[in-house]
Amino acid sequence: MNPVIPIQTSPVSTTGPGASTCITPMPAARSVLRERGQREVFCGLTGIIWLHRKIQDAFFLVVGSRTCAHLVQSAAGVMIFAEPRFATAIIDDRDLAGLADANDELDRVVTRLLERRPDIKTLFLVGSCPSEVIKLDLSRAAQRLSRQFAPGVRILNYSGSGIETTFTQGEDACLASLVPCLPTASEYADAGSSLVVVGALPDVVEDQFSRLFAAMGLPKVQFMPPRRSTELPSIGPHTRYLMAQPFLAHTAHALEDRGAQRIAAPFPFGVEGTSAWLMAGAQALGVDRAIVDQATASARQRAQSALAKVKPALEGRSVFFFPDSQLEVPLARFLHRELGMELTEVGTPYLHRQHMDQELALLPHGVQLSEGQDVERQLDRCRAARPDIVVCGLGLANPLEMEGMTTKWAIELVFSPVHGYDQAADLAQLFARPLDRRHRLAA
Ligand code: SF4
Repeated sequence: MNPVIPIQTSPVSTTGPGASTCITPMPAARSVLRERGQREVFCGLTGIIWLHRKIQDAFFLVVGSRTCAHLVQSAAGVMIFAEPRFATAIIDDRDLAGLADANDELDRVVTRLLERRPDIKTLFLVGSCPSEVIKLDLSRAAQRLSRQFAPGVRILNYSGSGIETTFTQGEDACLASLVPCLPTASEYADAGSSLVVVGALPDVVEDQFSRLFAAMGLPKVQFMPPRRSTELPSIGPHTRYLMAQPFLAHTAHALEDRGAQRIAAPFPFGVEGTSAWLMAGAQALGVDRAIVDQATASARQRAQSALAKVKPALEGRSVFFFPDSQLEVPLARFLHRELGMELTEVGTPYLHRQHMDQELALLPHGVQLSEGQDVERQLDRCRAARPDIVVCGLGLANPLEMEGMTTKWAIELVFSPVHGYDQAADLAQLFARPLDRRHRLAA
């Protein structure tokens, strides 16, 4: 049996899509269907694909099998002339049989790599299912190698293994491993009250947010991860942080252990989410609501008119989310509130009650929420609901398309720039395009 757990959400005060309107939904008890069965998700290694693009002086060395190498290589689609910033140290039969010392081999691989690539300033040793199965202790390996290569190169480790993680949890594990390296804010005379945005954002989105914060009088907002691993944000008891991604539970915990305080906010998807997120961040640092409204007015209006063009393709259509990226709840809120879509089921691999509190309060009453997965049961519910579009992983998309359903790959929602005002219509288009394609095929 799968338990149904009631949860309580808090009231949310946020700016809506129109200027500075204030929406305050009532608290609502919601029931969540919890499932613990077979899952269909990518592993945490997938995060390397966007993380290696973001942190431009970092290298990700997966310690894994040929399967791991194929996964990362094919998903990243590296250009043939590019110097890659990720690779796999393959654990082979000799390592598995205990005929070779995997630690010696790893040291050899790392030494060769760092001699050849002086541009690498941070090296992540990324664990996988095979490295966990043979109990290769990568944290000790990272400490040992750090002693050898410090101070020129920082060597850290985290796990991207599919045994326990879903694909966005790779980023969480990576950022959590960086937290102990963040400089202490009190070391800096001008630390004061500072704001850090947490979660990997494409550079173009980071620049847009930086400009908006600067227009509100906050020119020193820091981002984690930064573009260069040598420019980590400083952190301390006066640091307030704003989560840009909903899947960073371990990172948030590690930041709070360092004294930072989370600013509760919806996530910056769509006009409404972006407005509420910016408002929460700015107000936590004492910026007046009217200044935020003024600074965001033109971007907000631009985004609203771009969204209005996509809305007719989505309004009244139904959507079913399989659990995959942990973006499901904020995306469901965006699709329902700003584009008029109907939510049949919103599945998420893990529902962090505290971080999702404000998002849950914005969902309509009665929507079916599910946490975890029992894929066969969920497929049955999906077939019974016959939604207009299904958001799911690659493994489910093709079979569902064969059954005549329209699908959207969840992974594309993480690979594409989707945060903020200027990307709101692009995000809506990611759902409208598959519906349009199905319509054309049927015509
Ligand atoms: S880490 Fe595990 S799930 Fe991921 S590619 Fe390697 S073997 Fe497969």
